[in-house]
Amino acid sequence: MPAARPAHVVVVGGGISGLACAYFLHELSGGAVRLTVLEESPRLGGKLRLGEVGGVTVDLGAESLLARRPEAVELASAVGLGDDIVHPVTTAAALWSRGAMRPLPPGTVMGVPGDLRALAASRVLRPHELARAAADALMPAMPVERDVALGRFVAARMGRAVVDRLVEPLLGGVYAGAADELSLQAVVPTLAGALRRDGHLLAAARAARPADTDGPVFAGIFGGVGRLPSAVVAVAQARVRTGATVRGLTRTEEGWRVVVGSAAAPEAVEADGVVLAVPAPAAARLLADVAPAVAADLGHVEYASVAVVSLAWPTGYFPGAPRGSGFLVPPVERRKVKAVTWSSTKWAWTGAAAGDDLLVLRASVGRHREEADLQRSDADLVKAVVGDLRDATGARGVPVDAIVTRWGGALPQYAVGHLDRVDRIRRGVAAQPRLAVCGAAYDGVGVAACVADAAGAARQVLQALPRGATMGG
Ligand SMILES: Cc1cc2nc3c(=O)[nH]c(=O)nc-3n(C[C@H](O)[C@H](O)[C@H](O)COP(=O)(O)OP(=O)(O)OC[C@H]3O[C@@H](n4cnc5c(N)ncnc54)[C@H](O)[C@@H]3O)c2cc1C
Repeated sequence: MPAARPAHVVVVGGGISGLACAYFLHELSGGAVRLTVLEESPRLGGKLRLGEVGGVTVDLGAESLLARRPEAVELASAVGLGDDIVHPVTTAAALWSRGAMRPLPPGTVMGVPGDLRALAASRVLRPHELARAAADALMPAMPVERDVALGRFVAARMGRAVVDRLVEPLLGGVYAGAADELSLQAVVPTLAGALRRDGHLLAAARAARPADTDGPVFAGIFGGVGRLPSAVVAVAQARVRTGATVRGLTRTEEGWRVVVGSAAAPEAVEADGVVLAVPAPAAARLLADVAPAVAADLGHVEYASVAVVSLAWPTGYFPGAPRGSGFLVPPVERRKVKAVTWSSTKWAWTGAAAGDDLLVLRASVGRHREEADLQRSDADLVKAVVGDLRDATGARGVPVDAIVTRWGGALPQYAVGHLDRVDRIRRGVAAQPRLAVCGAAYDGVGVAACVADAAGAARQVLQALPRGATMGG
């Protein structure tokens, strides 16, 4: 490749991972790399999207950023949203369990209790279930050397009720996944680390939980986290093409040929480097010929689909203002709703927009392998959610507005062995010249983890480009 020509890097996928990667490619190269982002859908942002319910702007996908790790908040600040970073008014969540709203006990790690007194006070467990959980301290230590399913391990140490009533609802909220399938090491790495040192679960959870002094756990953006994609792309100075499905990837002497467009009218885009920031099934298809072993591993990452039902409900129909940020529902309750966020209580900016007369909330529905629930019509889904909300809160009447957002292939499932699989994928990809992958499929599903992964992918591709090609040529 002649050094005088600026390198061209193509980012496939315009979700937050792809856009953040374009941003880092631009920043780290000092603007010396020519960038193209190719996005299949008509809009950028992937699982970050704004909408409106009852005349109030809401997030239809991700709505909060983890603030305990810096990457997402730092990116938001770097692209000009620093003054709009906000924190939830409250993060006190409840569990709707056995017919009552109970406080989520403090001191848990993904639902695994580290404080028996707080657990007892929450009354989430019955006395015999609590005694069974406490038995962990009396059992022989079980240090975790190899990866295991989080749910099976917790059930063996503390009893099934801890899994059913605490771990499952927490996992349902983050992964929409099942505790008996998800990986201890990938889902709760701090707990896995503590368990390697001490094979007692209660002690490990106590050691792994974040200190109370670490500052706010979550952040948001005034006007919605869905503002982030357009702010990032404005700074990244990439050429962005939406409605551009990437169908093929082949090696050329100089780099890569990316085939984009319809099967009837394919177009070749030549690139020096490529970043695949798409979900695992799409990455598997694109790498099937180039790196079949990597594609096979990617093909094993399963996804859960979910729907978010956003509602605007007259506050007068609610018996008292909802308390806290929302509630989770254990799957053993056999309800349609798995989590509810009182958006206008949690976020001051949403509350101000909704006013005193309207409660804006969102309910999520759908778990891994329960896709049939999502095949119901929008009207049916809203009806089911409204029924659950009435039972949970005593609310009356009906919402004045509702939007159903379906997220097919929403959340990757980090099954047992996920970390080894990701390690193989990363090594296989690194063996290809100037190719990188990033996104929710690998080292964390949250926005902050995606941003961190995007930065790593940008560095990997830039380091592999000839120096002259990234130096303002
Ligand atoms: C309902 C919901 C709520 C969530 N809430 C939160 C939250 O509050 N906080 C949090 O931190 N995380 C949350 N998450 C998780 C987080 O939003 C996602 O994991 C993250 O946004 C994924 O970003 P991504 O860019 O890796 O993938 P995506 O957002 O999936 O982006 C991938 C993009 O690639 C495109 N694409 C796919 N195939 C091709 C192709 N062949 N050619 C071109 N383009 C292609 C897709 O159209 C898509 O736009 C939530 C997720 C969901 C679904």
